[in-house]
Amino acid sequence: MTARIIDGKAQAEALRKEVAADVARFTAAHGAAPGLAVVLVGEDPASRVYVASKAKQTVEVGMRSFEHRLDASTPEADLLALIARLNADDAVDGILVQLPLPKHVDATKVLDAISPAKDVDGFHVVNVGRLSTGQSCLVPCTPYGSMMLLDATLGKLSGLEAVVVGRSNIVGKPMAQLLLKANCTVTVAHSRTRDLAGVCRRADILVAAVGIPEMVKGDWIKPGATVIDVGINRVPAPEKGAGKTRLVGDVEFASAERVAGAITPVPGGVGPMTIATLLANTLIAAHQRRGLIPPDFFAALDARLFG
Ligand code: NDP
Repeated sequence: MTARIIDGKAQAEALRKEVAADVARFTAAHGAAPGLAVVLVGEDPASRVYVASKAKQTVEVGMRSFEHRLDASTPEADLLALIARLNADDAVDGILVQLPLPKHVDATKVLDAISPAKDVDGFHVVNVGRLSTGQSCLVPCTPYGSMMLLDATLGKLSGLEAVVVGRSNIVGKPMAQLLLKANCTVTVAHSRTRDLAGVCRRADILVAAVGIPEMVKGDWIKPGATVIDVGINRVPAPEKGAGKTRLVGDVEFASAERVAGAITPVPGGVGPMTIATLLANTLIAAHQRRGLIPPDFFAALDARLFG
């Protein structure tokens, strides 16, 4: 068997088009486009690339982008003051603080200072609580994007056996909550899990969010399973020349694609969905903050996944 490749780039493009059309409608109706504020503290090279990409795509779908680049030594109090200003600014519908933050800043305190209504990353404890109690909320982007890929690949997920490897607050836990909401039977595996390969082999849906290059092997995968590889790892690629690197996931793609029914590639799978979903969340927040119902697209998606 050779797995069907789940094309995250194409799915992300389709989602951006959907968002752009709804942004145009929103802007015509309200006289102003939704706005996304992104806060970057410090000079982390990967974070700089992400933030630039987020700002570019925000503008491309017709939204307003507000970038705040702060020095790595910025005191926590100054960052909290900026968030308070963004919370109060009516032009701002979504606030994203790029992680990781410098060590002297308490990330939990900062994330919890963001108004839950503008928390487009879905990391605020109120949104986390709403998700875990099955209530409507802003959902973390990478898991939400992964659910959209599963919707496009499998349709109804109800009754399927899902295994999520990784239990971080930003990927593993919210992914497990969403799969549970979609009526899957969910197992969350982590670094202390015994017989990880055996646990993975039970999965109809296997989500790898670990951060270890190519850890999940083909013989850990149930034949025909759908594999969502969230991992993004940069590894040496001497075959491309001295000092060159390439991106790989947490799944060993070459062996996995011979067993799986469908699989996300890295790059080009989950990654592109993350920013597209951030834009979707900003659009949703812009509606909900004004007491409006988000566009039909999202209600239909929710009905398919969770209905
Ligand atoms: P974290 O480091 O926060 O969490 C990793 C998780 O993997 C932990 O729960 C850890 O378990 C578990 N783990 C570590 N080692 C093992 C092991 N040997 N066996 C089983 N489980 C293990 O990572 P993130 O969740 O932030 O990210 C995971 C991956 O996803 C990374 O590659 C990251 O780059 C990528 N990522 C991709 C995004 C995208 O847009 N595509 C967005 C965000 C992340 P324990 O809790 O026991 O320590």
